[in-house]
Amino acid sequence: MAKVIIVGAGGVGQVVAHKCAQVPEVFSEIVLASRTEEKCRRIAAQIARPIATAAIDANDVAAMAALIRRERPDLVINVALPYQDLPIMDACLETGVDYLDTANYEPPDEAKFEYSWQWAYHERFATRGIMGLLGSGFDPGVTNVFTAWLHKHEFDVIDELDIIDCNAGEHGQPFATNFNPEINIREVTARGRFWEHGAWQETDPLAVARTFDFPEGIGPKKIYLMYHEELESLVKHFPSVKRARFWMTFSDNYLNHLRVLQNVGMTRIDPVLYNGQEIVPLQFLKAVLPDPSSLGPLTKGRTCIGCLARGTKDGRPKTVFVYNICDHEACYREVQSQAISYTTGVPAMIGAKMMLTGQWRGAGVFNMEQFDPDPFMEALNLHGLPWQVMRRDDHRD
Ligand code: NDP
Repeated sequence: MAKVIIVGAGGVGQVVAHKCAQVPEVFSEIVLASRTEEKCRRIAAQIARPIATAAIDANDVAAMAALIRRERPDLVINVALPYQDLPIMDACLETGVDYLDTANYEPPDEAKFEYSWQWAYHERFATRGIMGLLGSGFDPGVTNVFTAWLHKHEFDVIDELDIIDCNAGEHGQPFATNFNPEINIREVTARGRFWEHGAWQETDPLAVARTFDFPEGIGPKKIYLMYHEELESLVKHFPSVKRARFWMTFSDNYLNHLRVLQNVGMTRIDPVLYNGQEIVPLQFLKAVLPDPSSLGPLTKGRTCIGCLARGTKDGRPKTVFVYNICDHEACYREVQSQAISYTTGVPAMIGAKMMLTGQWRGAGVFNMEQFDPDPFMEALNLHGLPWQVMRRDDHRD
């Protein structure tokens, strides 16, 4: 029986609140806190169990610490934006409370993400006797757990890892992002990066593409090489991996819109002067694009996210693809959200459950692959994200 504060009442926060409420034997008390409390109240009204709400600016460490002192939670689940990671971690350190998030820290004025800022908290969390679980979404999150499971059960050595993220859904809008537009566009327009033979290799943004044949009737789709944060922790914790890459599908329509927006300067993150006032074009663009949470009732189709590993078992070559398929409309029926928020929010709840039930414990700051994958994999089947495995005795895609 534990109390949690969920910070952030966006698409993901909504799913985390619903899913925690479905597990009252672990999450006996839930507080949903965000910058706009009205959004918390709207989510609370969808849920049969009573959920407390609060207004918080999580960038304000003193205010965040005061909220934690008042509510006395066992864990803070951060599903606000990556910019809030460090202030919320500071508030957790100050109050001695465990921490979990789904995305690593990004400085607002530079489109760059890496774990160094959060790994730097390890000693302080350890000394304080608290635990921080980093990246407990789908990717990062489940993809880290899939890799740990592949390493534990399927391979003696993993040589190559490809993380592949496909959204085969349709929302019918001319252009929309399926999670926070600002964070999404910063990520997609960044230079590509992958790990090969002990070093990072860089590519121009979305310059490398190929076709991947997705299972269960989704079929062949074009996938684009991108940099994604879990690559950093996975190559650190699985040093045998010689090549690690991350791929995502995009429709031609999405890429055409993005190219035009970039060409006209609308994806810039530096301030420009407009009518005597400084505005950041990408933040303005976010304000006029569809709110991702409005896509819930519109989105049809499925997502498929998985890890394709090549390596050896008992001296023989082997290829294994472990993946989840998630249906947008089924997610909406259950929690009034599309599958992108669902596939992030469910693992955040499961990570919290792992911590609160003592199945994953440690003092310090941890990535998902550092713990036993088995109880998490079991919980995925139980809480709405069942996974499948395809195996082949060779090294073809
Ligand atoms: P949204 O933009 O829908 O929601 C973000 C929420 O955070 C909003 O409610 C916003 O408040 C709130 N917020 C923003 N700033 C503050 C602040 N200073 N203090 C308190 N609350 C604040 O984003 P999503 O729900 O789509 O994404 C949430 C997180 O999940 C992001 O970090 C994203 O990167 C991550 N993510 C991770 C994935 C994974 O698989 N690991 C996949 C998808 C997302 P307001 O309503 O007032 O704007």
